[in-house]
Amino acid sequence: MYRRSFGATRVPVPVIGQGTWHIDGADRTDAVRALRAGIDAGMTHIDTAEMYGDAEAIVGVAIADCREEVFLVSKVVPGNATRRGVGRACEASLRRLGTDRLDCYLLHWPGQHPLEETFAGFEDLRRAGKILSWGVSNFDVGDLDRALAIAGPDRIACNQVLYHLNERAIEHAVLPWCERQGVAMVGYSPFGSGDFPDPASPGGRVLRQVADAHGTTPYAVALAFLTRLPGTFTIPKSVRPARTLENAKAADLQLSPAEIALIDAHFPRGPRPRMLPML
Ligand code: NAP
Repeated sequence: MYRRSFGATRVPVPVIGQGTWHIDGADRTDAVRALRAGIDAGMTHIDTAEMYGDAEAIVGVAIADCREEVFLVSKVVPGNATRRGVGRACEASLRRLGTDRLDCYLLHWPGQHPLEETFAGFEDLRRAGKILSWGVSNFDVGDLDRALAIAGPDRIACNQVLYHLNERAIEHAVLPWCERQGVAMVGYSPFGSGDFPDPASPGGRVLRQVADAHGTTPYAVALAFLTRLPGTFTIPKSVRPARTLENAKAADLQLSPAEIALIDAHFPRGPRPRMLPML
């Protein structure tokens, strides 16, 4: 599994990780099996959140005997993100996950509490060894500028943002900002949260053509495209081991410049929207 240095942490993290939103809607045993299959295939970056229902507890079961191998990320909702609230939310996540530390802890999206408060809470947790690093999610460039001014350099490990073939807004400004500042860019919902390009559409046919040339699937081609740029990571979710293994293979898929240009032409990034899109 191909790894990249994860922003300021410098930890080598697999470019293809695993999402966990809605895994609690599936059979629990299947969800645990899929996560385990992914970990065994090298998808050791696991993304969860206090907001994802029972997902943290399911992740806890899946990582119980392989915690050391996992780069574990969870998130605090903005409503809990006061200095003390961050501490309480983190303790609750650690309990549900059955671990004593997170590798990275994120603010789920910008909210009502001052970032100074939230980041002070993150730093308290970091000093206490409860989290090894922290970052943000759904931050546009203005939010990132403010965050950097408060946190200083080498503190914000990542920005987790919406990024799939039909939603490439982050390429305009957020991704260049992250590259300049050495902040990892973790793209979420790489399959459009289940709304993947129709195989009969022109774009769908291009994905199939590229996939056939590499003996892989259109889903793996999408993941390879979404992690083609430096500093980028992605976190597909699946509760099916066979699909998880297919997704893992994308990390070793090298798209040629001509294939990248073809995909780019069929899934254009479009104009820069006024607001950063999020789910
Ligand atoms: P996604 O990964 O874009 O898509 C998941 C859907 O694709 C599921 O229906 C899954 O079905 C299906 N799928 C997965 N692999 C497949 C394959 N190889 N072939 C066919 N279908 C496949 O959706 P997502 O869950 O929205 O995003 C991924 C993760 O990003 C989340 O789980 C969460 O951890 C994170 N996220 C973060 C935020 C944020 O605000 N920071 C927001 C949204 C999501 P099965 O499970 O049945 O296989």
